[in-house]
Amino acid sequence: MSREIGNRQKYDESRWFNHWHRAQHDDDAGGIDLDFVGCCRECWTPIYLVEATEQKRRKNAHVAEELGRLANVPVFVIYRDPTRSGEFLVDRRELPGKPRWLKESELWDALMALRREHFWTCLGQRAGG
Ligand SMILES: [Zn+2]
Repeated sequence: MSREIGNRQKYDESRWFNHWHRAQHDDDAGGIDLDFVGCCRECWTPIYLVEATEQKRRKNAHVAEELGRLANVPVFVIYRDPTRSGEFLVDRRELPGKPRWLKESELWDALMALRREHFWTCLGQRAGG
């Protein structure tokens, strides 16, 4: 079951820090927005990081890659081409090889596989979220 953003205006307003920070340092943001941190639904341990983009050239995701290395979690850079419906170009940065076009269901299966892998070490305690 998908979860929609209930109130788009409220969601956009909740990004106030991003907007404020950019306004203060418009020539040098000194930070990035990370698009998604995939977590275990039981203990909220981070399981993977996602940087999403619509740009066509290889995205510079150095900070996400470094965070992934420090946290020992995979980093996915996911490209969406608005002309190709139902699939994404997925670049799993810590692995060798070229990005692969995956159907939405294939991407979902890959992300859920990471959750299942975590299951065996999950402490099962909700730490927040
Ligand atoms: Zn867990």
